[in-house]
Amino acid sequence: MSTESLNPLVIAQKQIKKACDILGVEESVYELLKEPMRVLEVSIPVQMDDGSIKVFKGYRSQHNDALGPTKGGIRFHPDVTLDEVKALSMWMTFKCGVVGLPYGGAKGGVVVNPKELSNDELQRLSRGYIRAIASIIGPEKDIPAPDVGTNAQIMAWMVDEYNKIVGYNSPAVITGKPLIYGGSKGRVAATGYGVALMAREAVKRLNMDFKDCTVAIQGFGNVGSHAGLSLKRLGAKIIAVCDVYGGIYNEKGIDAEKLVEHVNKTGTVCNFEGTTPITNEELLTMKVDILVLAALENQITSANANEVKAKIICEGANGPTTPEADKILSEKGVFVVPDILANSGGVIVSYFEWVQNLMNYCWTEKEVEERQEIMMVNAFNSIYDLAQQYKVDMRTAAYMISIKRVYEAMKVRGWL
Ligand code: NAD
Repeated sequence: MSTESLNPLVIAQKQIKKACDILGVEESVYELLKEPMRVLEVSIPVQMDDGSIKVFKGYRSQHNDALGPTKGGIRFHPDVTLDEVKALSMWMTFKCGVVGLPYGGAKGGVVVNPKELSNDELQRLSRGYIRAIASIIGPEKDIPAPDVGTNAQIMAWMVDEYNKIVGYNSPAVITGKPLIYGGSKGRVAATGYGVALMAREAVKRLNMDFKDCTVAIQGFGNVGSHAGLSLKRLGAKIIAVCDVYGGIYNEKGIDAEKLVEHVNKTGTVCNFEGTTPITNEELLTMKVDILVLAALENQITSANANEVKAKIICEGANGPTTPEADKILSEKGVFVVPDILANSGGVIVSYFEWVQNLMNYCWTEKEVEERQEIMMVNAFNSIYDLAQQYKVDMRTAAYMISIKRVYEAMKVRGWL
């Protein structure tokens, strides 16, 4: 029987250990990196619309700040756990490190289904969460952003609450804000755009032609939909998409723009005109050139990795592939662009937003996209070269580059 663990913390620790062992760094490096440096667990009382008080559980995990202030999103989801938040904060450290941002990693979460709250309740919860963690965040300390279940509006409420606490305007405390309130152009599309860029680079390395490529996308929220729109812009053909409600297929191609309109109207990709229904599992094992994973963790495991027929997997989601599945995919010759690189576009443009807020700049969308492309393509090339040199997969090479940066920063700071 498989002993595969689906606990994201255990998975993150395995990924770090593997890279530390290949790098040959002291045991103390792994000991430091295998857990966050600080975790805050909070209880948030919220007055509901009927006058009752409901108490929500929340977390903020700050993994490592050797390279700079910590950075990472806030997730509102009923399945949030402390281990998940810890793992996500660890992945943030290595995501920032791999593309060379001056940040460490953090992540926050509240155990809640935001869809079950009214707008007013959601606002009170968002403000309550920020009051609970205000003492450990700040533009020079820890800078939150949106993640699953949160959005630009929620970030605006949170910054407003933080401003009341500190007594001045501090837009750089949180990124992913609305454009009118210090947000950056290009931020909403950044993660999906980056996923498409990384798929393009992988296609080049495999000597394939992007124009002939077929694509399947799991998850059509912020990341999946913008990946779809950018992939279409780059010339690829999307033939299958799924979300939590089900999937759709059309071998002649699915128009991403029209599908976004359909999802905005109906809330799901299902029943999109001209498509036939498919299951989530059928999509994951479909014969396509590129499989974009843009939903949640643990989608490709030892149970289905052998059935994957895609040539390239591009991980828009965090942690969608388990280490056991990684091994199987590597043996099958599937080219995996790992999450810490593939979905780094979000934190890169968050970094641009922070820089613009601190300096009172306002960059154009073109400037943002060009800077993002340069950072991500450079990171892809360094990882690819290292992977070839050490004969390891792209994920291990990405961790090696990132852990080396964090290690060197810890060393010069006298931590080791
Ligand atoms: P989202 O909530 O906007 O979209 C999630 C999508 O996945 C939805 O279409 C949902 O229906 C679908 N989904 C959920 N469970 C599913 C399941 N079991 N099977 C199939 N589809 C399912 O979230 P998002 O912001 O697009 O984030 C998606 C992933 O990308 C998460 O892992 C997140 O941590 C990661 N990520 C997001 C960003 C960002 O900027 N939004 C940045 C980096 C990483």
